[in-house]
Amino acid sequence: MRTRFAPSPTGYLHVGGLRTALSAYLLAKQSKGTFIVRIEDTDRERSVPDAVENMLTALHWAGIHPDEGVMLEKGLITQKGTRGPYIQSERLALYRHHAQELLKSGHAYVCFCSPKRLEKMRTEQEARKQAPMYDRTCIKLKDEEVQRRITSGEPHVLRLKVPRNEIIAYEDEIRGPMSFQGHTIDDQVLLKSDGFPTYHLAHVVDDHFMDISVVIRGEEWLSSTPKHLLLFQYLGWKPPRYAHVPLLLNKDRTKLSKRQSAVSVEEYVQKGYLPEAFVNFIALLGWNPGTTQEIFTLEDLIEAFSLDRMQKAGAIFDTEKLDWLQGQWIRRLPAAEFAKRVLPVVAEKYPPASRDKDFTAKTRLIQERVTFFSEAPALLSFFYEEPTPSVDLLANAKQKVSHEILPKILEELSNTLDGVLTDEWTESVLSETLKKLAEGNGWKIGQVLWPLRAALTGLPYSPGAYEVAAALGKDVTIARLEAARRLITQ
Ligand code: GLU
Repeated sequence: MRTRFAPSPTGYLHVGGLRTALSAYLLAKQSKGTFIVRIEDTDRERSVPDAVENMLTALHWAGIHPDEGVMLEKGLITQKGTRGPYIQSERLALYRHHAQELLKSGHAYVCFCSPKRLEKMRTEQEARKQAPMYDRTCIKLKDEEVQRRITSGEPHVLRLKVPRNEIIAYEDEIRGPMSFQGHTIDDQVLLKSDGFPTYHLAHVVDDHFMDISVVIRGEEWLSSTPKHLLLFQYLGWKPPRYAHVPLLLNKDRTKLSKRQSAVSVEEYVQKGYLPEAFVNFIALLGWNPGTTQEIFTLEDLIEAFSLDRMQKAGAIFDTEKLDWLQGQWIRRLPAAEFAKRVLPVVAEKYPPASRDKDFTAKTRLIQERVTFFSEAPALLSFFYEEPTPSVDLLANAKQKVSHEILPKILEELSNTLDGVLTDEWTESVLSETLKKLAEGNGWKIGQVLWPLRAALTGLPYSPGAYEVAAALGKDVTIARLEAARRLITQ
């Protein structure tokens, strides 16, 4: 099995592109086949510098590594494999050769129509409510005239001669039997006037010479597929199988647009999504495993993926689902892995974190509470700087900690905790001690835990009081309780 992802370098990796790439990758991997990346850069006007590198970086981030073709190696764009080059602009002679073959066999013809004439033709067709289609003016030209005009340097293109009376049919791996009437298919330009092939010619030649078994691509290419099948037929080659994956839709079922969601993978990287969560989300767009399982690693996906579980209808790009998956994935990371990945984000705000031997013990307290790493520095702030609680934070009506009772609670907390031996300073001892303190004074447990937690963290929302006190240690805990007492008597 050989599959390929063949992006055009027009900017960034679109989320739809990642979905196509992922499907092709999974299919290749599950049969121990080869996943190829090819760059389709024959549209010079649309090519953007750095686009190839950006796309490869995004694929790499997602864990999708090409076996053959264009890839990043030590940060450099490299090509690997025996069927290269894998960048279309490096294969122009091959396309021209096959274009000539099609001309010789009578399946293509030269067209001299100017862009201006074509534009006028299209406008007239639209006015008549006809589908825009080349009117075949040049198909009638005699060979001698064609030669003369070419020799005199007149700009021209090469077009595919589509058989008007044929039906072109094939079985799509996702959409089932498909058929197209020849008279509805435009005589596609194959070679442009600048001598560059169009995508249609180039990718057919490449899919043949690169031995592609299944072409997986977006639904927008479905209507072009009959042209591609004709090209395979006229060049005497066996076509690959085709699978057209459904469109991605906004929640209101319109085509996914930048206005409603971020559409480049890079934007999701910047927002802090885990690659595992994002790939999990992308895999479930238009595909379901037929079970209730929702969390999939890349390995799971390699095992479970199949094209026949791909739906035909458009797939909703539901970012709420993405956020849910992100939370699931954050919680599933082993504590040490969570600490490792969150460290750069925390160390940027609090440089001492990178020298902190107890960093994992601290991040363990917040792993359940974050959805994005970017939330971590604020939640860990009290470990790296003195908290500055206010009186209004220390008191809390809901927890029945009135301003009147607060001094007494803080005093009792300070005295009682000072009595706990440093050696016994553990979550369970602290929990027992505080329970007794509350009972002894006729208070609810929340009445002691809230001011303690607030005094230690200065935050309205944080890990619990025992956990924080245990992690901070006895000296810091007592010092912060004393600071809170000074604050309320000011
Ligand atoms: N270069 C085309 C694109 O970027 C690829 C289509 C295909 O996979 O055949 O959409």
